[in-house]
Amino acid sequence: MARVLLKPKRDKSVKNRHPWIFSGAVQEVRGEVSDGDIVEVADSGNNWLARGYYNSRSQIVVRLLTWDDSDRLDAAFFRKRVREAVERRRDLLYDPQTNAFRLVFSEADRLPGLVADLYGDFVIVQCDTLGIERWKDAVLDTLMETLSPRGVFERSDTESRHSHEGLAPSVGLRRGKEPPPLVSVRERGIAFDVDIRQGQKTGFYLDQRENRIRAARFCAGKDVLDAFAYTGGFAAHALAAGAARITLIDSSESSLSLAERNLARIQTQGKTDYLHGNVFQALRDLGQRRRRYDVVILDPPKLAPAQGAVERAARGYKDLNLHALRLLRPGGILVTFSCSGLVDAALFQKVVFGASADTGRAVQILYRLSQSPDHPVLLFCPESEYLKGLICRAID
Ligand code: SAH
Repeated sequence: MARVLLKPKRDKSVKNRHPWIFSGAVQEVRGEVSDGDIVEVADSGNNWLARGYYNSRSQIVVRLLTWDDSDRLDAAFFRKRVREAVERRRDLLYDPQTNAFRLVFSEADRLPGLVADLYGDFVIVQCDTLGIERWKDAVLDTLMETLSPRGVFERSDTESRHSHEGLAPSVGLRRGKEPPPLVSVRERGIAFDVDIRQGQKTGFYLDQRENRIRAARFCAGKDVLDAFAYTGGFAAHALAAGAARITLIDSSESSLSLAERNLARIQTQGKTDYLHGNVFQALRDLGQRRRRYDVVILDPPKLAPAQGAVERAARGYKDLNLHALRLLRPGGILVTFSCSGLVDAALFQKVVFGASADTGRAVQILYRLSQSPDHPVLLFCPESEYLKGLICRAID
């Protein structure tokens, strides 16, 4: 097995069990290695540190899987890791109200590059790296054995798979039966149809589950704006909790039509408006028309994809939050998120502070939110924390 030797003083993160080795930290590679192979990692003095998989095409040249020398990285190892991740979701597996959640969350479940989501009777798998691609059969077999789904469908079509790992998309049925065009799921008793083939991510924003439930508690009897609504996740929970009226905005027409279908199941007669358009503009337009809301939800896409984009993203988040605050009635609630990993909780709070200061509205924080626990944060890998949110009240 080839051995990757690190440069002097570049072993600290490995010793701290961070799973990534950047190409700049590598002194030399001893032995024959192909992209996707398992390699040993050693410090500059050739002392063994860890073991993981290799891809010379990626900036993250090694993703580490074990720091225990007795672990052999074979199919049995990957099977065990998948079984353990599923086992940690027991509470959700036995929750009769919810049958859609994440089964495997990549680095945070010590399976870098692998995401697996459960949608009712089907499992959707996403392989983001060449290293995990090699073990796909073991992963797929284990998911079939442990969960007995009707089918396992692959949605390995992420941008990073192509741009960072040099892999072509891989999409299609992998085990069992073909899923229907829309897969029906339940989230805390609320039914959703999910487009697992064309939908964003693997079809649904499972990371927002707990936050949707929490936000809904503020919506009974209220006039709500759901900005970046996608297929109506927040809106459905708000309506089920008794929202009086809700406006959904999204730039994707197909997402809004699926939202309409999802909300139709709930008592929505005359309570819903759909606005197809750009939220940045729509918030301004609504403000000019003096439209006001009791609750505004802002769940934008990732605005900071790279370090160089953080400042610009912060300006974007500020713009959204500022215009959202202006739309709130006195005492109104702002539910606001950032899913940019590079915008940390402190910066995000600063951004909302800036919006509060500029509007002159006094804002209280009621809750600080994160991703749902089926998307855990591994302390060894702070990058596994990406979603942050605030529920605020404008009290002036
Ligand atoms: N809140 C949703 C998830 C939102 S994902 C839920 O709980 O399911 C972000 C959404 O923003 C996507 O649906 C995307 O189509 C939409 N979007 C991205 N940029 C936008 C823009 N500038 N204006 C309006 N919608 C946008």
